[in-house]
Amino acid sequence: MPTSDLQAAQCIFCAIVRGDAPATFLHRDELVVAFMDIRPVQPGHLLVVPRAHATLIHELDAGGLARLWSVATDLNRALRASSLPVEAVSVYVADGDAAGQEVAHVHIHLIPRRDDDGFGFRFPAGYGTLPGRAALETIADRIRPASPSPDTPERSGR
Ligand SMILES: [Zn+2]
Repeated sequence: MPTSDLQAAQCIFCAIVRGDAPATFLHRDELVVAFMDIRPVQPGHLLVVPRAHATLIHELDAGGLARLWSVATDLNRALRASSLPVEAVSVYVADGDAAGQEVAHVHIHLIPRRDDDGFGFRFPAGYGTLPGRAALETIADRIRPASPSPDTPERSGR
């Protein structure tokens, strides 16, 4: 069995997509499904998931990426229009183990937020110290060679 098929066979989200594991669905189409997180951070916490097994965002094709974001945006709107107490929505992807990804199948978290709801990021020591432009440029120079995106100053406003 190819590695990706083996991963899919052992993946809880693939089992949900196949109908072999239960979920409370909010959306199902040919590319993307969405269902309630079984261990919600806040009531209404839901997950938007591509049907195809992929661990990381960059493994998805352009069509899958576009649909994933489109469905996430529709459900973001739905959360805000719902009767739940939603003042804002955190849209979050843990893209890899070190980022806190717990299920190795791409998923966008939509987490309803309220002021003082107790949820947030934990920042490292030293956060808040501004590195300065030269340091930002040095760091950017390590990313740019790997980036296929154009850097056109007349459009970026730099
Ligand atoms: Zn999977």
